[in-house]
Amino acid sequence: MRVQLRYNYRLYPTPGQQQLLAQAFGCARVVFNDGLRARQQARENGDTYVSDGDLSKQVITNAKTTPERAWLGEVSSVVLQQALADLNVAYRTFFASISGKRRGRKVAPPRFRSRKDSRQAIRFTKNARFAVLVNGRLRLPKNGDVPVRWSRQLPAEPSSVTVIKDAGGRYFASFVVQTTDEPLPATVSEVGIDLGLTHFAVLSDGTKVTAPKFLRRAARKLRRLQQDLSRKQRGSQNRKKAVVKVARAHARVADTRRDWQHKLSTAIIRDNQAVYVEDLCVVGLGRTRLAKSVHDAGWAAFTAMLEYKAAQYGRTYAKVDRFFPSTRMCSDCGRINEKMALDVRSWTCPCGSTHDRDVNAAINIKAAGRADFNDRGVQVRPAPVPAQRDEAVIHPSVAANSARSVEGISVL
Ligand SMILES: [Zn+2]
Repeated sequence: MRVQLRYNYRLYPTPGQQQLLAQAFGCARVVFNDGLRARQQARENGDTYVSDGDLSKQVITNAKTTPERAWLGEVSSVVLQQALADLNVAYRTFFASISGKRRGRKVAPPRFRSRKDSRQAIRFTKNARFAVLVNGRLRLPKNGDVPVRWSRQLPAEPSSVTVIKDAGGRYFASFVVQTTDEPLPATVSEVGIDLGLTHFAVLSDGTKVTAPKFLRRAARKLRRLQQDLSRKQRGSQNRKKAVVKVARAHARVADTRRDWQHKLSTAIIRDNQAVYVEDLCVVGLGRTRLAKSVHDAGWAAFTAMLEYKAAQYGRTYAKVDRFFPSTRMCSDCGRINEKMALDVRSWTCPCGSTHDRDVNAAINIKAAGRADFNDRGVQVRPAPVPAQRDEAVIHPSVAANSARSVEGISVL
């Protein structure tokens, strides 16, 4: 099976290249916004939806011939087409969401991009003829040959590269690479995972995973910097400095968390033939007072890692229906008990079994996942998994990581 993976590397553009990239980010943003405006206008005028092809003609091809947009010709046209492709995807996702074709939370219509967005990005596809040169630099058409820090090798020729500037002013190249899966030797163990609030995750074998101390410490430091920032006067030089500081700290916390989640997901996939996770409506939970801890936990990113690693290494990954009462069902007798307050950590069923709240939930998730899976008669392999948008900067391969332990889980 083909699997799409993302490989991210730090880029070090020269000041001149930074200027050219800024120009490309700007042009991509203008094309995106022009496209969005054209469709909004058509809608206000009661006209039909502007097709992808017509929109491209209007805001790229024809726009380049006008004095107001002539400068679009100075950047790679693929970058402009890809910006429109992003807009088209945003519209399709929105339509699928309002028509009910797409499950999960409602998706908002596309929004205008701003030069103040914390993430600026442009994408080059193969058509753009980007290239990794023998000297290790990345050739970006109309931007020059940009130095790259190759933290690991690309396993195959990339099909596209996204150049990103983050809020901390750092540049990254994110390559999408098609690889075939590399099944690991089969194992008999299967695992259910409960994504909890007291622990990051609890496994059906009783393992409780807590976010490591260094991560909690970094998150605390970030909060302190954010408080400092809120006390600085608007428009002041000190505030500008504080903004950069917060952005850098934020990026560091995100990198650290991602790296930790990679080690954890790799270990779980390596040790289990099948992984079952509760399909939590994280967004639903996020609206409650639990929002902070839920979003800090970053479960969505974590389960996405489990999913694509399962595909890559020939394991089964399945989500269990979110309305399933995993917490209050006794994993011994199947009885569904009364709802429990969040602070109830262990409980005894009328059948006599005493349960740890989260381990019991994880055991139920595993059982439900196996039942679901067998119901569908599935020996079918999952569909190709698309590359995740926020893939890792560095993640150790399963083999390289096999001897290392993951902080917070002693069992692995
Ligand atoms: Zn019971």
